Amino acid sequence: MDDGLPRLYRLFDLHTMDLRKNHQQVLETPSSFWQTQWDTVWEWSGSNEFNLVRWGTFIYTTAIFWIAALGFLMIDLTGKPKVLQKYRIQKTSKYQVKFMDVLKAAKQILFNQLLCGIPSGILYYHVLIWRGYDSSRNLPTFSRITLEIAFSILLQEIVYYYIHRFLHTPFLFKYVHYLHHKWNSPIAIIAELCHPLENFFANLFPIVLGPILLGSHLATSWIWYAIAIISTMISHSGFHIPQIPNPEIHDIHHSKHNRNYGVLGIMDRIHGTFEVPRVGKIQ
Ligand SMILES: [Zn+2]
Ligand SMILES: [Zn+2]
Repeated sequence: MDDGLPRLYRLFDLHTMDLRKNHQQVLETPSSFWQTQWDTVWEWSGSNEFNLVRWGTFIYTTAIFWIAALGFLMIDLTGKPKVLQKYRIQKTSKYQVKFMDVLKAAKQILFNQLLCGIPSGILYYHVLIWRGYDSSRNLPTFSRITLEIAFSILLQEIVYYYIHRFLHTPFLFKYVHYLHHKWNSPIAIIAELCHPLENFFANLFPIVLGPILLGSHLATSWIWYAIAIISTMISHSGFHIPQIPNPEIHDIHHSKHNRNYGVLGIMDRIHGTFEVPRVGKIQ
């Protein structure tokens, strides 16, 4: 009997198995490109864990913030490019922003980053060493990175919601959280304008908690910190550019104070504090 057809099936089967395996490998293993970049970061740190965790994290997160801030500030200070103006959601607020207002906010942000960020970064290092974390030089798999970041996003939503609500109690609002709410129509850099206590408990703590609990690889933590920094800057930016996350939710919080305390809206929906943004009509 000619078994040509079954042989063809077997060949096809082996071929698809190979394809699946390759596909799986692409999904699982970080490419040598990213591994090489990570090796370079390791070498810059002198292969020293303290330098990498403490100073590496500080330089990396501060650079992400200020590089993005410069981009947003070019728009906020000049009102250009004009094409972006149709995406502004705060139609009645004065625009462009004044340089002196930006300078004042920038001073407080730098103060937080240097005088609060550096000591809390040393604490972060010691907590990580005490807890234990994936300090391997090899990057983790993509699926592990994705799952751990998803966990950190959800944890931040829960923890930040309650801390933020607590900051709205009269005493804490008056002496701590008011500084962040001075801008009713915020711009991107206002994401980090706050009292140093708020910076530590509401900004840093809910973000680093996920990676600490999971013992995440530092590269996973760094990807998550970049997502957290950029998304909070977008939510304060005052621009709703298509395909980019919606800043109206947090804008409502800045104008009404008792709505939309969370990041994603999940906890606000559970506690009945969610207000659905009317896209393009926020004043
Ligand atoms: Zn805010
Ligand atoms: Zn608030």
